[in-house]
Amino acid sequence: MEIAVISGKGGTGKSSISAVLASASENVVVADCDVDAADMYLLFDPELKGKENISLGKYAVIDDCKCTRCGKCKSFCRFDAIVPVKKNDGKNLSFNVDRLSCEGCGLCTMVCEENAVSMVPSDGNILYSGKFRYGHIVYGRLFPGGGNSGKFVDIIKTRARKIAKEEGAGHIILDGPPGIGCPVMSTLGGADAAVIVTEPTISGLSDIMRLFKVAKCYVDCLYVIINKYDLNPVMAEGIESFCNKNGIPVIAKIPFDKAFVEAMIERKTLLEYAPSSLAAKGLRKAVEFLRL
Ligand code: SF4
Ligand code: SF4
Repeated sequence: MEIAVISGKGGTGKSSISAVLASASENVVVADCDVDAADMYLLFDPELKGKENISLGKYAVIDDCKCTRCGKCKSFCRFDAIVPVKKNDGKNLSFNVDRLSCEGCGLCTMVCEENAVSMVPSDGNILYSGKFRYGHIVYGRLFPGGGNSGKFVDIIKTRARKIAKEEGAGHIILDGPPGIGCPVMSTLGGADAAVIVTEPTISGLSDIMRLFKVAKCYVDCLYVIINKYDLNPVMAEGIESFCNKNGIPVIAKIPFDKAFVEAMIERKTLLEYAPSSLAAKGLRKAVEFLRL
């Protein structure tokens, strides 16, 4: 079973809860799909087995020796990725491509009559895989400022599925990125179920409404965990009422518990650090419901 754990925003406790779900299985594959800020490896401290450079699309580079400085490529680039740079004499220009602005469309290679532009692989994205105490983990580090994060998430998921098949893992836990953008959709694609982790705040309610619309396009089985529900019981009721109206089971309501933070500091999951805490008891209900 492949379960995506998502949240409309950061700070809801999604990764802590993903870690608990992962630690409930004896042979699991964890895919950390937050390629901008992967953090599950910090908690699980895996023994690294693989480290690969991943190319995500291409970007343009200009050969300064062939370039006649006509400026045609700059005028055609819709993304303002070609930047004229003054040389030391202050008069002559050269044209450079800003990698982070380049969308890799390749138009500049077509309009340049000097064949001075070529497309090169947009690499520098690293895919890691390793073993940890409950199974295997796959995670990535996107080139800082780089694009195509959704594509990278797909590569991570494909690798996680391959490892799960080879190792006979019972479950894949996908720790999704925050938000509702492309990498979240990529996380949800093909998953058997999604667990939305939320908190009882106005933004929590607003986020779950937005996330519900996105998630139901990808996944049939949607569940909700309300974290820190006791900090605002009225708002927690509002979230429950939204879930009831839309047929989404609330599989756990977790009270605020400092043990979550203490467990992180100790690099343990909540079930490992404080197994008899109220929060751990609440999460066991979710684990039982999901049959992990
Ligand atoms: S179109 Fe070609 S020759 Fe003209 S500025 Fe661009 S790279 Fe240089
Ligand atoms: S590949 Fe496209 S986006 Fe990149 S510099 Fe060329 S025209 Fe601009």
